Amino acid sequence: MTNTQFEQIKELLSTPQSISIIPHRNPDGDAIGSSLALYHFLKVKHDVCVVAPNDYPSFLKWLPGNETVKFFDKQNNQSKKVLNKASIVFLLDFNVLHRIGEDMAKTVAEFKGTFVMIDHHQQPDTDLTDYIYSDTSICSTSQMIYHFLEKLGAVDKVDEAIASCLYTGIMTDTGSFRFPSTTSTTHRIIASLIDKGANNAQIHNQVYDTNSYGRLQLLGCALRNLKLVESYKTAYILLSQAELDQNNFQKGDTEGVVNYALSLEGIIFAAIFIEDVEQKIIKISLRSKGSFSVNQFSRNHFNGGGHDNAAGGRSELTLEGTAHKFESLLPEYELELKKTDV
Ligand code: 5GP
Ligand code: MN
Repeated sequence: MTNTQFEQIKELLSTPQSISIIPHRNPDGDAIGSSLALYHFLKVKHDVCVVAPNDYPSFLKWLPGNETVKFFDKQNNQSKKVLNKASIVFLLDFNVLHRIGEDMAKTVAEFKGTFVMIDHHQQPDTDLTDYIYSDTSICSTSQMIYHFLEKLGAVDKVDEAIASCLYTGIMTDTGSFRFPSTTSTTHRIIASLIDKGANNAQIHNQVYDTNSYGRLQLLGCALRNLKLVESYKTAYILLSQAELDQNNFQKGDTEGVVNYALSLEGIIFAAIFIEDVEQKIIKISLRSKGSFSVNQFSRNHFNGGGHDNAAGGRSELTLEGTAHKFESLLPEYELELKKTDV
């Protein structure tokens, strides 16, 4: 986005507006953290509401402003009302409309006002709006919201609520500040968020140390199911619907599990395949280390995308069929997977 465009948005926001903020479907810490941070910033002057396509895990429910979020799937009429009266819609942490689900995408596509997209994924849909702040080098949309506030000359407006939301988004999207996308700038922003009142120890505790017994049992099951394809430096995990049910699966319980596969010494490509009987799909999470692009792999074979080192996708085969397809694709990527650039 050009400086002139940032100025135009600043001008637009100088008078009260009706604003909706939309994160992607199955919002993660970054999607909901960036959305609620922007909500707290904008609500001082504007009529603003976060409309999420669907719910998010309980370990994010403590975020300030959580109680104001509308869910398009469960509060359909209310959500449509909010969207229909909006003059500005912010699209956060995604860059193609299908990421909010078919139904919501249809409603949002009819919107005639101003879209502003702020996102760090690859290949944004540039036809959607003139205002696209896209930077794939930045670790999180939450960090981009901080830069957005810098561009608006409004960093002094960051209060405890905004700081807590942004801290959560940056922390979750960087794997607690350890992924290569974490820079010295990220740490400087994090330091300033703590200065503004983000309680770092408490946030880590609320997000990472509030596991249920069932979640840990499910993790045990996932680790027992771990399969190694050492010749391709690959490891993957299968979880069936029956296994999820046996362990009282709750939304968010499988988040981060794929990283255990990637933590194995010598493994640079990891996947988890999770059966969803209701949606009739296998939900896929892919992770890599080094130059092997899981974004490309997912786009090529599993109807998804994301970042070079973290992407998602889906399959309409059975769980076993998906695993079989996955394994049979590995030889195609032999050269890339056997590179030792990690
Ligand atoms: P996760 O595996 O945690 O669901 O997603 C990893 C990353 O890929 C996240 O940044 C997420 O937003 C993105 N992602 C997940 N699923 C999809 C998908 O189906 N399409 C695209 N374009 N990105 C996805
Ligand atoms: Mn993100």
